[in-house]
Amino acid sequence: MSYQQTKMWIVDKGVEKETKRGHLREAGLCISEGQVIAFPTETVYGLGANAWDNQALARIFAAKGRPDDNPLILHIDEVEKLTSITSNIPLLAEKLISAYWPGPLTLVLPKAKEVSERVTGGLHTVAVRLPDHPVAREIIRQADVPVAAPSANRSGKPSPTTARHVYEDLNGRIDGIVDGGPTGYGLESTVVDATGEIPVILRPGGITAYDIEAVCGSVAIDPALSQQKESDQPKSPGLKYRHYAPEAPVYIIEGTLPFIQEQINKQQYEGKKVALLTVNEHLNEVEASIPLSLGSIVNAVELGASLYAALRTADEKGADIIFAESFSREGVGEALMNRLEKAASGRYIRK
Ligand code: AMP
Ligand code: MG
Repeated sequence: MSYQQTKMWIVDKGVEKETKRGHLREAGLCISEGQVIAFPTETVYGLGANAWDNQALARIFAAKGRPDDNPLILHIDEVEKLTSITSNIPLLAEKLISAYWPGPLTLVLPKAKEVSERVTGGLHTVAVRLPDHPVAREIIRQADVPVAAPSANRSGKPSPTTARHVYEDLNGRIDGIVDGGPTGYGLESTVVDATGEIPVILRPGGITAYDIEAVCGSVAIDPALSQQKESDQPKSPGLKYRHYAPEAPVYIIEGTLPFIQEQINKQQYEGKKVALLTVNEHLNEVEASIPLSLGSIVNAVELGASLYAALRTADEKGADIIFAESFSREGVGEALMNRLEKAASGRYIRK
């Protein structure tokens, strides 16, 4: 793939200032004209392209090294735009939209025939999200088209939660990066299939099973999610690929702190540099070459927001192996553990 000059625009969440609005207008126009531009959302940084432009879509796949059959999520700036990309909006989707949009919830809906196979990977459905981030929304509004935007990382790597992560993975491969500071949730959106009788969670995220059940009265979970090995048959095609993985191998350790310490010591005796993903409350209780706290044990949102940056830091600091504590699956903890299990390819060390 040929080298491209990657432009940088610095903005923060305050989009009121005229210069910043100018940057966002320029970024939006670049997207509508067929360029691929990374921008922040409240989940992770996305790599945006005009959903009506097959060549631009192809450039997303090339820049990321993304497998062809992994469909893209379309991003819109207002609910009304759904009519151009879906064939109908089921009642349960309407309920979820009024409760959780804008926000970290992607809905899989029946697609309009105009939506390209390049977006859907040949499926009859299309995944759509209305992000809750002023920078993302303004860029999409300026682009004035639905914006296909997967995470702005090289496929397989941890998703980017800062513009620097995007730059490290994609500089020279994409047309521009809008730096709007670190993202909020730091984990990708919840993906829900809203085409059936009851909503089915295909990927856990910031909107939890509990949140969905509260609105729809019921919720199901794609059985592929409970398998720890790579599955051939998840309903969400992207889930079958290796994901979120740093260079060093990751293991999740289930057990007491002394058990965790024992595992670390074994590796360190062999001369290995061990990174430990842990919580503030345990920092003084366990010793590792590279201790990395994700935040407080009582704040699953904070732990989730720090995960990807910590995986990248472990690599940067030269970890030979990464151990992670097994965190609670309560609330957003489900999404955190799902991503961690992917990063670890399902490897656990248990007492
Ligand atoms: P990414 O944007 O890289 O975070 O990944 C998008 C996720 O949404 C992948 O796991 C896709 O498989 C999933 N997805 C996108 N479109 C569909 C669809 N029409 N049906 C099911 N899953 C989808
Ligand atoms: Mg991704």
